[in-house]
Amino acid sequence: MTPTTFASLGLAEPILRALDARGYTTPTPIQHGAIPSLLAGRDLLGIAQTGTGKTAAFALPILQHLNDRPGRARPFGTRCLILAPTRELALQIETEIRSYAVNLKVSTAVILGGVGRRPQEERMRRGPDIVVGTPGRIRDLMGTKHLRLDEATHFVLDEADRMLDLGFIRDIRQIVAALPQARQSLLFSATMPPEVAQLAAAFLRDPERVEITPQAPTPERIAQYVHHVDTAGKRALLIDLLTDAAMQRVIVFTRTKHGANRVAEHLDGAGIGAEALHGNKSQSQRERALDRFRSGRARVLVATDIAARGIDVPQISHVINFDLPVEPESYVHRIGRTARAGADGIAISFCDSAERSALRAIERLTRVTISPVGRVPEETRQHDRGPAAAKHGAPHGAPPARNRRRARFRGPARAAA
Ligand code: AMP
Repeated sequence: MTPTTFASLGLAEPILRALDARGYTTPTPIQHGAIPSLLAGRDLLGIAQTGTGKTAAFALPILQHLNDRPGRARPFGTRCLILAPTRELALQIETEIRSYAVNLKVSTAVILGGVGRRPQEERMRRGPDIVVGTPGRIRDLMGTKHLRLDEATHFVLDEADRMLDLGFIRDIRQIVAALPQARQSLLFSATMPPEVAQLAAAFLRDPERVEITPQAPTPERIAQYVHHVDTAGKRALLIDLLTDAAMQRVIVFTRTKHGANRVAEHLDGAGIGAEALHGNKSQSQRERALDRFRSGRARVLVATDIAARGIDVPQISHVINFDLPVEPESYVHRIGRTARAGADGIAISFCDSAERSALRAIERLTRVTISPVGRVPEETRQHDRGPAAAKHGAPHGAPPARNRRRARFRGPARAAA
């Protein structure tokens, strides 16, 4: 039977009080699925993305264990290591854990690249119970003996797929090798490509597997269109679409890292400010690219799926799928980048003849027939003026709102969201 309270999952009173103070009343599915076996000491393979409540799912049982088992780490040691792929996520996890630990005597530290090492070394001197960090800096501090993992009883690898895409595999292997054999290990990943499955097999022991599938329906407020186009015509079509000033802040998705580079270079060559974001970029290059995109100096961000996940850029006006994703679930993630915080958004997909089956898979998953628009932008402009619109018109059963949004997409400017 589904427990309806955190207490029924076996969490202790001081933790329940903290959850109550945060206003949580009901465990999310991943919390319901993971917390009892984590409390029982099992390893966990969690297939879930941000937004499912996964941080609390792993943090609450770990806090309870650390609180129940007295003892402190020695200077420069820790009892729990949590690895996250980006600084933003690491900070977010540590802040969240502190709020769950308000009634406990469990200390935390956050260890990130890009800021001074000295305060982090000082912090490690006190042997924090929980260290949350990014792989590069964690390894740096291990190298100078400012961080020791020989007392760690708990280890969490968060967003494993993104870790691998960002090139952290070697760091992760070295970090895992420094952990004691007797430990509880948890791995979370939104997707399970073979590389992640291998990593999971290498360092989890008989894990409980909890999978939270992404919600299939696409957000209501996103207008979706598809251009049927030859592969060779995609770049020209992209440039043509970007002449529309309504395309204020645009994410273009490509399937490969090289593809992202090529498209960004092509746009730059055409005088359209563009940045590429993918796993072959260093952390500082990523940050520079994101800064330029957030500030509007680059109007277009060309990204691969995993690199774009988790980045927070408000008011993205358009998502363009230069290549359709192989996994239809990725389409839902991609277009969810627009229409955030209640704003309307527009998603445009390019589909060449080899991608038709991918398009059909997306339509089956989302249960939406995506409106085709003409191959040539001039042709599509005419739609809005005349009865030709009916020919290329709205998706089956689409509410009139879709057409209104589409008209705005063609218009010279777009209301700020
Ligand atoms: P996460 O997937 O860990 O990033 O969590 C997503 C958001 O949901 C965070 O803002 C959490 O604070 C919040 N959250 C986590 N668990 C619950 C819950 N059981 N009830 C309400 N909010 C929650």
